[in-house]
Amino acid sequence: MRAVMMYGPGDVRVEEREKSRIEEPTDAVIRVTAACICGSDLWPYRGAEPLGITPQPMGHEYIGIVEEIGSEVTTLQPGDYVVGSFVASDNTCEICQAGYQSRCVHNVMMGAIGTQAEYARIPLADGTLVKTPGEPTPDLIPSLLAASDVLGTGWFAAVAAEAGPGKTVAVVGDGAVGLLGILAAKQLGAERIIAMSRHADRQALAKKFGATDIVSERGEAGVAKIKELTNGLGAHSVIEAVGTQEAMDQARQAARMGGHVGFVGVSHDVDIDGLELFFSSIHLHGGPAPVRQYLEHLIELIWNREIDPGAVFDLTLPFDDAAEGYKAMNERRATKVLLEF
Ligand SMILES: [Zn+2]
Repeated sequence: MRAVMMYGPGDVRVEEREKSRIEEPTDAVIRVTAACICGSDLWPYRGAEPLGITPQPMGHEYIGIVEEIGSEVTTLQPGDYVVGSFVASDNTCEICQAGYQSRCVHNVMMGAIGTQAEYARIPLADGTLVKTPGEPTPDLIPSLLAASDVLGTGWFAAVAAEAGPGKTVAVVGDGAVGLLGILAAKQLGAERIIAMSRHADRQALAKKFGATDIVSERGEAGVAKIKELTNGLGAHSVIEAVGTQEAMDQARQAARMGGHVGFVGVSHDVDIDGLELFFSSIHLHGGPAPVRQYLEHLIELIWNREIDPGAVFDLTLPFDDAAEGYKAMNERRATKVLLEF
């Protein structure tokens, strides 16, 4: 099968690998019908994060058709159309039952398996995979693929930030997750949604997804602008979807006393001063999003065409051109890249 492999920073190749197969009786193997590149794939691409192994199989978002099931899989059949989260989970342990499937006691990070490939092994298939109501029409595939990570992550960020009726939500980060955090905040009923973005194309998408205000300033100036828009108080809810020191500082400082920050940007060299945190009186809730918790609901919203998260894909390339996809996202020529087989 063809698969995307990363050999080092800036070095991505599509190569022939041994086809995925059942390894555990609880596994399924799916034929991936569309793959995509995540903002978090850019951390190792930029050399900001070491590779687990070299070469590293890439990709953790997926949609596909069940090809084969292990002997203990009971809820799936070959031919089922499925979506799963970027973390495989049993969906039965105490942590899963509490809604934190991404931290399941048996969790398997799909990034270690690699789903930018023609086939993928899905561990704990009964707990991980959610069937779509049928075979999706081609226009629904980008949105269903988005549910696997960026939409589910944006959704968790909005929930963690307690976005809802009467709330002002500020969103730090205009990548796919930040943009879909806006969509989620809108769905959850937020009154006002302030997108922090300096890029015209992303500002337009932010508005399409429900942003009511755009703030193009960053850092202290950005925080000052949020305060100006909220009677000097700051936002009730802030989504942090970047993972850098600047973004986390901006998110914490943009939240009002007693406000909530939902942080889902993968943290890289972020420090939080304890005394500053103490006196900020904010709630911080985040981490790897338990996307599995929201999948049924998100699939239903997409299937009924109530939301169109697939609009974050602004570049579609043939699978064999994956290296160009990484380059385009790294150079910010694309927000999110879909790879077609
Ligand atoms: Zn679990």
